[in-house]
Amino acid sequence: MSDTHNWSPESLRRQFPILDRKVHGEPLHYLDNAATTFSPECVHEAMSRYENHYRSNVQRGVYQLGVESTEAYEEARNSAAKFLNATSADEIIFTSGTTFSVNLIAYCLSQSFKPGDEIVVSVAEHHSNFIPWQRLREQCGVEMKLIPVLANGSLDLSQLDTIITDRCRLVAVSHISNVTGSITDLKHITGLAHRQGALVFVDGAQATPHGPVDVQALNVDFYAFSGHKSYGPTGVGVLWGRRELLDALPPFLTGGGMIERVTAQTTRYLSGNRRFEAGTPPIAQVIGLGAALDWLMALPWQEIRDYEQKLSGRLLAGLLDIQGLRLLGEQAVTHRAPIFSFDIESCHSHDVCQILDDYGVALRGGHHCAQPLMDALGLVATSRASIAVFNNESDIDALLVALNKVLEVLR
Ligand code: PLP
Repeated sequence: MSDTHNWSPESLRRQFPILDRKVHGEPLHYLDNAATTFSPECVHEAMSRYENHYRSNVQRGVYQLGVESTEAYEEARNSAAKFLNATSADEIIFTSGTTFSVNLIAYCLSQSFKPGDEIVVSVAEHHSNFIPWQRLREQCGVEMKLIPVLANGSLDLSQLDTIITDRCRLVAVSHISNVTGSITDLKHITGLAHRQGALVFVDGAQATPHGPVDVQALNVDFYAFSGHKSYGPTGVGVLWGRRELLDALPPFLTGGGMIERVTAQTTRYLSGNRRFEAGTPPIAQVIGLGAALDWLMALPWQEIRDYEQKLSGRLLAGLLDIQGLRLLGEQAVTHRAPIFSFDIESCHSHDVCQILDDYGVALRGGHHCAQPLMDALGLVATSRASIAVFNNESDIDALLVALNKVLEVLR
């Protein structure tokens, strides 16, 4: 998408051939973008160019193909650095996704944790940004403190200054909740955390699909996201960390590609990001992710956000019209991402989503890998609709019409 002035929902949709397919004879209305979104053709083309023209390993071969693949791989790193406004591409680590990135940071930081240290996590985290910290509690004897939630599932930051004490080493929170769509006040959190000498890790898996992020302006210390939720391939993600912090961390995986010198007795590791990319990386996927991030950066974000808000308003009005429906998160289209989780009285979300599927409408039902949040809200599961840039009014209307059919069957 190079010419941002020609943007229209239709021109954008044409870049996603998968949108033409049918499900059970019905047009597809895909609204599970928070789980995985589709990628535009330019991403598939970039990966296919690698596979068909210069497939080879990176940072190894001096022959032409090796040079081309290394250049394309490092170009993707430059794109990721630009997308996050990192100070340098040396701060970008390619991983297999957010889950891997959280585990990497949890393992590496824990090497210097002592019993009595504290880590602060919110009760609303995706299990990927919860269980690794819970394990540290068991393995290192650190205390894990929880930021609670309000009745709508958004974070309750009112007592944060008592939760983050001078024993806190790390605060780990998501930028945007995958359940409520609530946007975390990261500036408030980093202000308090840094004052106490704690680092801030941000799970950005649900934020990067909604536009470039500025890690410097957010003043965070680590930031992670997944390719497949940001219009890129599966099996790849990005972990950003401040250069001086990466230099101070021990490696996570060891092996080829991350060493300065190995002798029979000992090993000296590369510094910075290269220390964390042991073994052959997912090269085609990294190149595809670079194309996805370039594509995202070329979108006219002000117009896209207005468009997403228009769709959100249409969906919100329809949902709030349904009797017995409890919507999580903000009840307005502002100050939230277009991720809408709801519970309909006496209707299990699996039944709701199963019937919606008959009408070609794809929604996620379940606990969304956020069982501590479900427990805190007295819920077992919700149905979740999540909007991407290629969705249109017909997707929203199809969902609302199909929801009425669901109610006829289940009530
Ligand atoms: N964090 C959040 C907020 C998510 O929504 C998800 C996936 O749904 C993850 C982490 C895990 O991402 P991945 O499965 O790509 O590692």
